[in-house]
Amino acid sequence: MTEQLDWVPSHVDIAVPSAARLYDYLLGGAHNFAADRALANRFLAAQPNAKNIARLNRDFLRRAVLFMVAGGIRQFLDVGSGIPTQGNVHEVAHQADAGARVAYVDIDPVAIAHSKVILAGNQNAAIIDADLREPEKILAHQAIEGLIDFSQPAGLLLVAVLHFIADAEDPWRIVATLRDALAPGSYLALCHGTDESNPAQMKAMTKVYRSSISSQSSARSRAQIMRFFDGFDLVDPGLVYIGEWRPGAPGPAAGEPDQFWGLVGIGRKPA
Ligand code: SAM
Repeated sequence: MTEQLDWVPSHVDIAVPSAARLYDYLLGGAHNFAADRALANRFLAAQPNAKNIARLNRDFLRRAVLFMVAGGIRQFLDVGSGIPTQGNVHEVAHQADAGARVAYVDIDPVAIAHSKVILAGNQNAAIIDADLREPEKILAHQAIEGLIDFSQPAGLLLVAVLHFIADAEDPWRIVATLRDALAPGSYLALCHGTDESNPAQMKAMTKVYRSSISSQSSARSRAQIMRFFDGFDLVDPGLVYIGEWRPGAPGPAAGEPDQFWGLVGIGRKPA
């Protein structure tokens, strides 16, 4: 396959795989390179269900946005938003209300470049090149200030991103910093890899991952993931495996938790 190099920022080394492009490949996207696909194939050898998990994660994101929209949320902060694919947050939110505002944040240059193309001319959505490990900078970013009114409830989306933050960088402090900026009535949705369902498989996936990508990858226990919801009231059905969170129709996830390594949940910041 010919690499589509015309849209690649010049500083991207396409020989080095990235988390964003690995995920793009698993979702069937076109913004990945040979190195990403080679890594994905090793990843799939360790977790043959990875493509299905990626799709279920994406569907959880869609259901989370719809749930928040139904709860009156009209502004979203999506950190670790990834390479745009089908069912992007602004598309889902704008189906309900064209005036809904979405601020995307990522560190991956390809995710940022492609998001800029998709969002060109859109007054209600933007992508910011910022690092979740520096939440104060995200909150103070001019583009975020223009899109998110922190005096009003907002939806904070941290979907499949917190496991890229090491314990040493205190991801709980990071989430608490973002939470403290949110108005009462705001929501947090997250998906986080766990090593509780199938430790051997998660260990194998993490090994593949760490051998190829310099960024951190940390699966966590249910208790550790639950701590991200400190200061939020977890809504039903609580912290569950991907696919078990209010599925629209009976899905393959029910009863097979070890096939779905991610725990997902939504919390509401009380008054
Ligand atoms: N949230 C999207 C979803 O669930 O469909 C994309 C998830 S993708 C697996 C993880 C994304 O997090 C990648 O695009 C990656 O570049 C981004 N990411 C990783 N570490 C990050 C950090 N420290 N700050 C911002 N984004 C980060």
